[in-house]
Amino acid sequence: MSEVIVAGAGVGGLAAAIALRQAGHRVTLLEKSTQDGTGGAALGVQSNAGLALRALGVARPVLADGIPVREYLLVSWRGRPLAGWSLEQVAARLGVPSVTVPRATVMSALRAAAPAATTGATVTGVTEDATGVTAHLTDGSAVHGDLLVGADGLHSAVRPHVTGEHTPPVDAGYVSWRGTAETTVAPVAGGTAVHVVGSGRSFGAWPLPGGRTYWVATLARGDDPWREFAGAPPVATTLLDATDPDTVLRTPIHDRDPVSTWHTGATVLLGDAVHPMQPTTGQGASQALLDALALATALRGVDLTDPRARRRALDAYQARRAPAAEEIVAEARQLGRLHHLDSPVATRVRDLVLRATPRRVWQRRTEARLDELELLADWNSPTTDQEAFSWNDTH
Ligand SMILES: Cc1cc2nc3c(=O)[nH]c(=O)nc-3n(C[C@H](O)[C@H](O)[C@H](O)COP(=O)(O)OP(=O)(O)OC[C@H]3O[C@@H](n4cnc5c(N)ncnc54)[C@H](O)[C@@H]3O)c2cc1C
Repeated sequence: MSEVIVAGAGVGGLAAAIALRQAGHRVTLLEKSTQDGTGGAALGVQSNAGLALRALGVARPVLADGIPVREYLLVSWRGRPLAGWSLEQVAARLGVPSVTVPRATVMSALRAAAPAATTGATVTGVTEDATGVTAHLTDGSAVHGDLLVGADGLHSAVRPHVTGEHTPPVDAGYVSWRGTAETTVAPVAGGTAVHVVGSGRSFGAWPLPGGRTYWVATLARGDDPWREFAGAPPVATTLLDATDPDTVLRTPIHDRDPVSTWHTGATVLLGDAVHPMQPTTGQGASQALLDALALATALRGVDLTDPRARRRALDAYQARRAPAAEEIVAEARQLGRLHHLDSPVATRVRDLVLRATPRRVWQRRTEARLDELELLADWNSPTTDQEAFSWNDTH
């Protein structure tokens, strides 16, 4: 049994801690924050994330608390439908719905299955020698192991040790606001996510349990969603009016270019630490979950004190995950540009192109992105919750 240190107890770190323990390793989980970290509005848990949660044995509370999103609808600033695709169709094929849930539900489900994290433990640096890897903490202490997993998010302290880079993340050029409205609107209440795209701004809305609605507004310019969306379709204005501004989260958006290596020696990265992406595809947490499963699959039965065996396993992990994750980073960046085109001419041309794109093209694109059955088929955890999904299981 090898000793694995996981730095960061976010979605990816918790999933890695669960999966690596299931794969036979001893895990020490280090988390910078001393807060419970269950705030943060809601999360879209698409079918591939649901499959990953099910493989970890923690899908049930998430699906029970989530509201299924059956359809996705893109509309223009004037409220005209531009494009649509069915998530219900994808769910029927993959056996897990796409749901929106409070982020707290996902975090609690993962925490209940993970080893307890040491909180207030901030990794500041990493050293390696022939005996393994050491994570150095702000209080001057150190934790030694056979492998360090950097799951410490966008501003990862572990990443520079692996990539050799000290460059800051790339500014996407827009800021997001996330809120929860204490009301519902049509057609969101019926399970249709609506995404309004305007000039240099967008507004998306997803159903939440309890007659509430999750929304994300993005702005390339301006710093007041209430003012900037005053002329938007009613889905946006109604939801903004039903939201307490003090509860809204403001996040400048960043991503990063791909890196050639995800691991070095006895250190490996996953999730936002290695491939942070713009939130336009709603795939960041899903990809972190899939990384965690792929890493644990590659490391199952591997003696991590053997440098050659460790390297082979980490190469296999990167080969399995990097192409898919990098494709989604690129797609998310492309969508970020498309959603925030600023000139009226460019916006009009964009809307015409979106309207002219056949529904089957959107459908195929969505299904390809969410299909992770091959990766998950290799995960045979004894705790895997293999129940088939039925729409009646959710709200
Ligand atoms: C506006 C917005 C909306 C989004 N919506 C969605 C969505 O609907 N669906 C979806 O799938 N994804 C979404 N995402 C993306 C998603 O939130 C992230 O991709 C996901 O949280 C990444 O998980 P992670 O575990 O890699 O990193 P994080 O969630 O960032 O977790 C990193 C953890 O490491 C800890 N940490 C940081 N530094 C250190 C250190 N030095 N030492 C120890 N611990 C440390 C942090 O406190 C944190 O707990 C969204 C992102 C944004 C910005």
